[in-house]
Parts: sequence; C-alpha cells; structure tokens
Amino acid sequence: MPLPSPPRPDSRLRLPIGLHEKGRRLRDLELRSDEDLRVQRTAVDFLAPREQALSSAFAARIAALGPLRNPDAAIFHRLALADRHWLAASLLFREGTTALQVPASCRKCGQILELELSLAEALAKAEPILLRRGRKRSGMLRLPTAADLDVARTAEDLARLCAGSRAGTPAIEARLQQADPLCVVELNGRCCVCGSSVNARIDLAGLWLGSQQRLAEDFLHSVHTLAQAYHWSEREILSLPDPRRRAYLRLCRTETAEFGLEQHVYE
Ligand SMILES: [Zn+2]
Repeated sequence: MPLPSPPRPDSRLRLPIGLHEKGRRLRDLELRSDEDLRVQRTAVDFLAPREQALSSAFAARIAALGPLRNPDAAIFHRLALADRHWLAASLLFREGTTALQVPASCRKCGQILELELSLAEALAKAEPILLRRGRKRSGMLRLPTAADLDVARTAEDLARLCAGSRAGTPAIEARLQQADPLCVVELNGRCCVCGSSVNARIDLAGLWLGSQQRLAEDFLHSVHTLAQAYHWSEREILSLPDPRRRAYLRLCRTETAEFGLEQHVYE
C-alpha cells in the first residue's frame, strides 16, 4: 500500500468504515478552516470523560460528514472506535506530526532508549476493516462504538455487545483487534546496550486529544491577553479575523517587553 502523502492544506479525508445513516454509508469528511477551528475548539470540554471529549473535539474539527453540515458530537459518538482511532491518527499526521519519539526503558539493564514511530507508515499499514455481518443472528459481529463504551461496564460487556454469544473466543478477539489496528500502537526495538527486546505502546487518539487541548488553551490565553489590554468582550475578540488578532497580540507583547525594559532601567 502506498504511504499517505505528506501533510498538506487539503480539507478532505475519507473514513475507512463510516457511519450508516438512512441506508447510506457516510465516509467523506470536510475539515474546518483553521480560523473556524480555533473558535470551535474553545467549546470542547476537555475535562469530560475521554470518549466524550474526543467526540466533541471531532465535532470542532469537522465541518461536514457526507451531506451532514456541522455534525455534532453525538454523530461522532456513533462511529466505530476503529474509525475514531484512525481519524485521530490521520488528523495528528495532517496537523504536522509525521514521526513520534517514544521513551522506553530496557527491562533487563534499565537503559533508557527512544523508539520512533513513522505515522505515515502506521497509517499506511493499519487501515481499519469493516467486519462482515454473519447470516444468522448468532453469527453477528460488529465493531464497537464510543456509544457502546458508555453502556458497557466491563471489557466482557463490550465484547458481548459486538459479538453476542461468541464473545470471548480467541478467534473473535483476534478479529476485533485486527479491525482496529490503531487502537494502541505497539513499537518494538532492541536495547543498544544488552540487545534485549524493548517495546512501548502509543495511544495516538490520546495524543491528538492532548494536542487539541493545548491549542485551545493557547488560543484562550490570547483571548485573555486581548481582553485585559483592550477590554473587548469575548464575542468581539472571537469575531476578529486571524491576522488582526495576531497583530494586536504582537502589539501587546511589544508593549509588555518595553514596559519590562523601562522598569529595569529605572530600578
Ligand atoms: Zn538493555
């Protein structure tokens, strides 16, 4: 399979599995413009339980799913976890993370090492697959969604929701894992000191969510700086075009730097 092209300002993505809606499978996503995204992201409650926060962060990031404009968090909650993991990893890549360095320690000699994951390779090799529905009801197998996680109390509950009476068999567990390859990515390497095998696990969806939280906090900090300096309302600041907001922020920073210098001179 060819590697995905490097990050570019393209605004489209195609979900591997998609969402069934009125007899159609919706897969095409349109991303928001950076300017729209910055404002939408401030509405995400990053302190909510993880899957809810992830659904809201997707809603902030995505302008359309198929014909649905501004799909809300509830729509993304219905996506298969496999699609959500793929989407978060794809957005991480799209937003400029092409490789990840993960610290790991050797269990035998304690040496600290760094393992590297190429996100392009991970995305190319690990596309989620759509499980086929069996003919008989007892043979039904479907992929778990975030909504399933809300009602399942244990991993066994979740397996029963998706595989019915066949839950728990090694073959079914292997198929579910195979269908969601980006759930947790495992990296394997060798210790450069003693040669033992070293591994690390990466939660790509968690990393993407963390990056969105940091960006939302940075943006809110800039709103706070402007509100303090100019006494504008939040609504007024959010409605400023990006270049103007950045220009005012530069002025604030220059003034703060000059004020600091003056204080230093007169002390
Ligand atoms: Zn070692």
